[in-house]
Amino acid sequence: MLKVHAVGLNRVDLYMRDSGIGITHSLPLVQGVEAAGVVAHAPAGSGLRVGQKAVLYSNAFCGHCRYCRAGDQPLCVNTDIMGEHRHGALAEYVAMPSSCFMPLPDDADLVSAGALMVGHLTAWRMLFGKARPLQAGETVMIVGIGGGVAAACLELAQLAGARAIVTSSSDDKLERARGLGAEAGINYRTEKVSERVMELTGGEGVDMMVDSVGQASWGDSLRSLRRGGRLLTCGATTGSQPGADLQRMFIRQLEVYGSTGGSVEEFRRVVSLFGRGRLKPVIDRVVPLAQYQAAFDRLGNGEQFGKVVVSVA
Ligand SMILES: [Zn+2]
Repeated sequence: MLKVHAVGLNRVDLYMRDSGIGITHSLPLVQGVEAAGVVAHAPAGSGLRVGQKAVLYSNAFCGHCRYCRAGDQPLCVNTDIMGEHRHGALAEYVAMPSSCFMPLPDDADLVSAGALMVGHLTAWRMLFGKARPLQAGETVMIVGIGGGVAAACLELAQLAGARAIVTSSSDDKLERARGLGAEAGINYRTEKVSERVMELTGGEGVDMMVDSVGQASWGDSLRSLRRGGRLLTCGATTGSQPGADLQRMFIRQLEVYGSTGGSVEEFRRVVSLFGRGRLKPVIDRVVPLAQYQAAFDRLGNGEQFGKVVVSVA
């Protein structure tokens, strides 16, 4: 059991609050799909120690389906995610299987750790786990900078030595992203995205595209890829039925991958980098639990840059 200190909020929390669309769940349900805190109870043989800092792997995977046996827990057919299928972390304590606890160093910042699982793990799998991994010197484009996953992609891309181009409707967010190392920012409300990308890449297009926006950006995303480029999709905030542009896909031999979450092993790598001070999630703001409604509103209005974190302790 974890004594919760910090809970990162995510778009899925808004879906769960509003309708739980597409997710089998029963009410009442405590929300909160990611958390860090301190081990409050450690079963014998778990290898955990009471009082130790830890971050949770949010998916209480079954461990015996074909996907779990292959180490691909995000595809678990009996998936049981906290805040979606079981009680989540917006509480003083949350119970999860001991296999979901990732110990942290004693000096770890729990607010940052509580914002690590969804953003950085999702980003990690997209950049390095699904398609050919992003390489040093390659260019990745991140659609809709501002959200937690996009901000994590920007950080991880730089860690890999890749160049990042970002898009947003907000000049402020583009400016912040440039301050965090993005090579260029494109305002999709005022600029023609794919034309601008071609200018920035010598007419070739980008090597990799990360698009969690979906319907509104899909066409531009396909047109901005180089031949043989790879597109990763992990969300559809503007709709899930874009024009497919199949001709472009097969003639230019584009690779399209769906991705969600990440495996236990991938999260271990993320946590290890975090524990060594190599990762620092961008925190938009920290809100006390009593004001969680304001935190949800900020996320719902798309005002945030990076993670909105609810402080429980
Ligand atoms: Zn399973």
